[in-house]
Amino acid sequence: MNIKTFLENTALPKLEARMLVQEITGYTRAQLITRDEACLSESQSSRLRGLEARRLAGEPMAYILGWREFYGRRFKVTPATLIPRPETEHLVEAASAKLPQGGAVWDLGTGSGAIAVTVALERPDAQVCASDISREALAVAQENARLLGAQVAFGCGSWFEAQCLSEKIGFDLIVSNPPYIEAGDAHLGEGDLRFEPQTALTDFSDGLSCIRILAEGAGARLKPQGWLMVEHGYDQGAAARRIFEQNGLAQVHTLQDLAGLDRITLGRKA
Ligand code: GLN
Repeated sequence: MNIKTFLENTALPKLEARMLVQEITGYTRAQLITRDEACLSESQSSRLRGLEARRLAGEPMAYILGWREFYGRRFKVTPATLIPRPETEHLVEAASAKLPQGGAVWDLGTGSGAIAVTVALERPDAQVCASDISREALAVAQENARLLGAQVAFGCGSWFEAQCLSEKIGFDLIVSNPPYIEAGDAHLGEGDLRFEPQTALTDFSDGLSCIRILAEGAGARLKPQGWLMVEHGYDQGAAARRIFEQNGLAQVHTLQDLAGLDRITLGRKA
C-alpha cells in the first residue's frame, strides 16, 4: 500500500490519518507531502491499520500516539493521565503572571505534569513543585520534566497530604486543574473522556468537592498575599467564588477562556 492510497481511502479525518502515517514512517509533515507515493512495507501497513482501527474505535489520538502538544511542547501522556487541554494553557499564563520573581508554586493533581513543567520552563526563576495521588501519573510527569529539561520537585499524595518541598515552605501560588465534572454528567461517556482516568475527571459527587478541599487547605500553605488558582467547569464560576470567599480568600474573581466561558477562579490569602 502506498501512503496516498491510505490517505484517500481511510474513514479517519485527514489530519488524524496524516498524524498516524507520520507516526509509522517517522516522516515530517513536509516529507509526507513530497513522498506520498512511497510504499509502506508489509509491517508498516499492518501497524498503520492497527492504529487506524484503534482510532476508529474511539481511542484518543493522544493515547495512540503517546503524546499531546501543550503550550508548544510535546508531553508524554498515557491512559494514567488526563490529556492536557488547550483551556489549561490559559491557567499556565495566569499562573506565570501572578508568580513573583523567584516565587514558589505548587501544582496539585499534576497528572502528566503539563502545568508544572510548563511553568518551570516559562519561569526558570521559580521554585516549582507538583504532586499527584497516582504514582503512575507521577511517573509520567517526572518523565516529562526530564525530557523537557524542567526543574520540578515531585511528591506523591492526596491534595495537601502530598509532600514536595519542605513542610515549612510557604507558597506564593497554588494551582490546580482538579477533577470537576459532576457524577453522572453525560460528557463522561463521550469522546476522549471515555478513555481517560475517571478519577482525573470527576469527584464522583457534585463536581465541587476538590475545589472545596483546595480552598480549605490553601490558606495554611500560602504565604500572605499568595494566590490560589483553580480551573473549573464553565458553569462553576459562581460556586467556586462562593467557596473561595467562604474560606476567607480575598480579591476573588474568575477568568474566562478563549470561548468566553468561566474557567479559572482565583483568590488571595488576606
Ligand atoms: N476540561 C475537561 C473536560 O471537560 C475536564 C478536566 C477536569 O476535570 N479537570 O473535558
